[in-house]
Amino acid sequence: MQDLIEVLGLIEVLEAEGIATKGLNFEAFYDDLSSSGENPILQKEIEKRVHEYFYGMSLPSKPTIYDYLILSLREKDIIATFNWDPFLLMAYQRNMHITKPPRICFLHGNVAIGVCEKDRTCGNMGHRCSKCGELFCLQNCYIL
Ligand SMILES: [Zn+2]
Repeated sequence: MQDLIEVLGLIEVLEAEGIATKGLNFEAFYDDLSSSGENPILQKEIEKRVHEYFYGMSLPSKPTIYDYLILSLREKDIIATFNWDPFLLMAYQRNMHITKPPRICFLHGNVAIGVCEKDRTCGNMGHRCSKCGELFCLQNCYIL
């Protein structure tokens, strides 16, 4: 995860806040930051950079380990993941016509999924809630 801090250009941002980045456990740090609510501006900046980075990723056209995972499980199974990247969701969506996919629980959220808190629904970012018509927003935990 140290690479992620560098890739996202967060070293300067974090150090400007007095946070030592060498050996920093990014996931634990972010968990503490979001749980405490101490620095919402820093939290939003990190979330923005993480979202932009992961949202731009895509799967290759050939089968991947994500496709094999989706295809190897049953509808009654569940995948619980901490992955923020959209790969598992992409594999889910491109294989759902082949099989009844397992449920997926994005324990720390996912850059490709948003929620409507009012109606307690979720869907792809950029899409609208079928009940109220509002755009889905980022949230911390999703279950498909
Ligand atoms: Zn809604």
